[in-house]
Amino acid sequence: MIKEVKMYTVICDNCGVDIGKDDEYSCWGEHWQAIDNAMNAGWHEQDGKHYCTDCFSFDDDDNLILRKIKT
Ligand SMILES: [Zn+2]
Repeated sequence: MIKEVKMYTVICDNCGVDIGKDDEYSCWGEHWQAIDNAMNAGWHEQDGKHYCTDCFSFDDDDNLILRKIKT
């Protein structure tokens, strides 16, 4: 039989990229696994949002700087 299951992935809150896009896995069975994977991949979590490696940097005062997205 076929059963639908709920899976999780992490999307960059800045640019909208899906971390699973170029990964071996595209989603995870538990949300913490998806977040764990994102952290291991160098993503940044702040205030409940997640940012991909292309989107964030820190200035000299350790303030989070987000890449400006062209609209
Ligand atoms: Zn991003």
